[in-house]
Amino acid sequence: MLLKETQEKLIPTLKTYFGYDSFRDQQQQIVESVLSKNDNLVIMPTGGGKSICFQLPALLFEGLTLVISPLIALMKDQVDGLKANGIEADFFNSSQESIEQAIIFEKVFQKELKLLYVAPESLSLLENILNEDYISCIAIDEAHCISSWGHDFRPSYQQLGFLKQSLPNTPIIALTATADKATRADILEQLSIPSATQFISSFDRKNIELEVRPANDRLSQIIKFIRKQPNESGIIYCLSRKGTEQTAAKLQQNGIDAAAYHAGLNFVERSKTQEDFIYDKTKVVCATVAFGMGIDKSNVRWVIHYNMPKNIEGYYQEIGRCGRDGVAANALLFHSYSDVIQLRKFMSGASNEEVQAAKLDRMKQFSEATTCRRKILLSYFGELLAENCGNCDVCKNPPQFFNGTIIAQKALSVITRLKESEAIGTVIDVLRGAHNATVLEKGYDQLKSHGVGSEISWRDWQQYLIQLTNQGYCEIAFHKNNALQLTDFSKKVLFEGEQVNLTRPVAFKEQPTVDKKA
Ligand code: ADP
Ligand code: ZN
Repeated sequence: MLLKETQEKLIPTLKTYFGYDSFRDQQQQIVESVLSKNDNLVIMPTGGGKSICFQLPALLFEGLTLVISPLIALMKDQVDGLKANGIEADFFNSSQESIEQAIIFEKVFQKELKLLYVAPESLSLLENILNEDYISCIAIDEAHCISSWGHDFRPSYQQLGFLKQSLPNTPIIALTATADKATRADILEQLSIPSATQFISSFDRKNIELEVRPANDRLSQIIKFIRKQPNESGIIYCLSRKGTEQTAAKLQQNGIDAAAYHAGLNFVERSKTQEDFIYDKTKVVCATVAFGMGIDKSNVRWVIHYNMPKNIEGYYQEIGRCGRDGVAANALLFHSYSDVIQLRKFMSGASNEEVQAAKLDRMKQFSEATTCRRKILLSYFGELLAENCGNCDVCKNPPQFFNGTIIAQKALSVITRLKESEAIGTVIDVLRGAHNATVLEKGYDQLKSHGVGSEISWRDWQQYLIQLTNQGYCEIAFHKNNALQLTDFSKKVLFEGEQVNLTRPVAFKEQPTVDKKA
């Protein structure tokens, strides 16, 4: 139980030091639990507001809160941010001169500091202050790094197990955005905090509208999209460095203020782009996935994936960079068949190729879904949504199914005639009766089924074939030049009268013009 006196300080402290009027979601319960000296495990998505959960208690504790964080590069920024709010904070790492370290020790001994950020590998240097005279609380950020089951294991985190032994009465708060159950249990075990209170937030970011569109003429779709909200900030994620530069250049040619960001640019260029974006000088950044980590900008209004991400974790993390202020935001993903093929190629030969390929498959299924996308997304993270979300393109525009058996039969018979050796493009050419070089050279114009699907447009065929692949009626042989091949299901359609349901291909939908802030 928290003293009434402490309880009454919570909101005023939040307001004075952080400028917020109220807590978000579970923040207050977490803060109270920390102040009651419980051990805690906090699972909250990126942008959820984890920092307050230890920074605010730090202000109300007598002594120092030690913050273990793996990102030395971000420590200075975080500390500068705290100092700007009038909070006594500092960071400690092995790159500092011994005089700087001595100054920090002195501040600790004088009990002047409220928060001290330290990298796990520098912790041993702090031995003489690691006692309860000085340390009131220990926050372990990115706590999943302690577990070899997590996706970002760091050996230096394993030594944190000793903290509970040296400071048995000091509350520990471990925080992470990784929700996986096995990792959670491992964190508790390794930190020796088996009875920690667990706070697991929903991963749902309701304010982000999810939308997936076929990748036809992406650039003009993007230009239209941006012109509807020209004063808002957004990020366009591209697969390659070249892609970021080309997209930025084309947007500039169309009068849109856009910059490129990727790891190949020098530090000065990158910092400038980042700053200009943060301070709203540049509205649009075309970036590789390197952009956004540690960027604290709450009013990013939209994220576009020009290319397909390679898994749902990445997609979710990237779209999570918009709408952090809770105001309506848009996540638009372009679903491209050739992107999937390219990503699949990148993976080939990797030690965990199978895992990566399975993850890419899930991403593909998400993109091609005909049910609420948020349900799919959250179920991926183990969270079940009872109702459809109403804020994704599928909910807003439910697909209409029709009997597509004849379409499927035409496609599958062409695939058969092509001896399962041609990729989607040639399959469509033959279906549509094209007379281009490949078709003529290989004599495909002589096939009985040449032109059997000429009434359907090229784009529509593309989408039908994707749907058929998705439903398992055919498959792509990634190791055989992406040839479309038959499956056991194909035979049922061709020979056993199995009926196939398809949805009408989506034409490019206009974005509704809504005033987000209204
Ligand atoms: P995380 O560490 O979980 O990624 P942060 O602690 O960096 O998230 O917070 C994300 C954003 O939310 C920041 O811009 C922060 O200022 C803002 N924020 C956090 N708590 C609140 C609150 N109670 N009210 C308003 N904004 C908040
Ligand atoms: Zn939905």
